[in-house]
Amino acid sequence: MKSGFVAIIGRPNVGKSTLFNALMNTKLAAVSPKPQTTRAKISGVITQVDTQIILWDCPGLFQARDDFNKKLVKIAIKSLKEIDLILWLIDCTAYKHEDDEFVLSCIKKYAISPNKKAPIIFLLINKIDKIKKEDILIIIDTYRKIYKFEEIIPISALKGININLVKSKISEYLPDGPQYFPDDILTDTPQEIILSEFIREKIYLYTRKEIPFSAAVVVNETRLDEEKNILYIQADILTNKQSAKKILVGNKGAMIKKIGTAARKDIETFLKLQMKKDIKVYLELFVKVKETWKENEAIMSSLGLS
Ligand code: GDP
Ligand code: MG
Repeated sequence: MKSGFVAIIGRPNVGKSTLFNALMNTKLAAVSPKPQTTRAKISGVITQVDTQIILWDCPGLFQARDDFNKKLVKIAIKSLKEIDLILWLIDCTAYKHEDDEFVLSCIKKYAISPNKKAPIIFLLINKIDKIKKEDILIIIDTYRKIYKFEEIIPISALKGININLVKSKISEYLPDGPQYFPDDILTDTPQEIILSEFIREKIYLYTRKEIPFSAAVVVNETRLDEEKNILYIQADILTNKQSAKKILVGNKGAMIKKIGTAARKDIETFLKLQMKKDIKVYLELFVKVKETWKENEAIMSSLGLS
């Protein structure tokens, strides 16, 4: 058996979570056009006949200035120290970004250490649906000069271009190892964290300016009624200001209803795959003002951020 831990690494917004979902063949990670959508590290397990890939979607790596973003960056850096293979994702429409240099410096600093075997590094050039073929060659040439990657693969995570190639190349390079998880496990990330990411994704999609960044979603309770196949979920959307709460609730509750309805659909699809049966979801959401949630250790820990 071949097996190993594979982390998707890159600066914010290059399409890491989109790639993660494409490789998993299902939606597990939150995706949005806004930076730093991903907060917790989400794991996905891909089990094939003779290979098991444990895939990690990580927050973006960049030179964070505030404490909260520094925490997110730390999660990605910690993953770098623990993996067998790195998928370094860049965006071909902005491939000379200064944060990409920062990503490479982190890889060199944290992933490659004299005390352990160096990880295998693939460079994945994403969003190739947006540029001409000739331009892809220029990017390959530029990046070939800066590091000796085991593979350089142009992909489109969104359009599904070369996703199977990436998967088979991962399997080819992984070392011999044990089967870490049973065949039918999809993820070992706690369910509350996945549910919270799904709900937060809708906040990122439907609200603007600083609202998404001011919000956190804490899942307080999940209760499964096995007879009726209903999962009852109660979650709070925390935000730092009364004005933000007003927007999140919306006119006569329209916004919170929109967030809840969309999140419920994603959660039901996820549960069907995870539990192999149809589960109906009752999602109860409250918006609460909690100015200091970013400094609250218990909240940060429940979000997988400490
Ligand atoms: P992350 O921050 O690196 O996890 O990036 P996301 O996966 O959240 O994606 C950021 C944005 O890029 C979203 O709007 C995606 O739809 C978009 N995106 C991701 N992959 C592709 C791609 O292959 N092509 C195009 N055109 N857009 C993509
Ligand atoms: Mg992401």
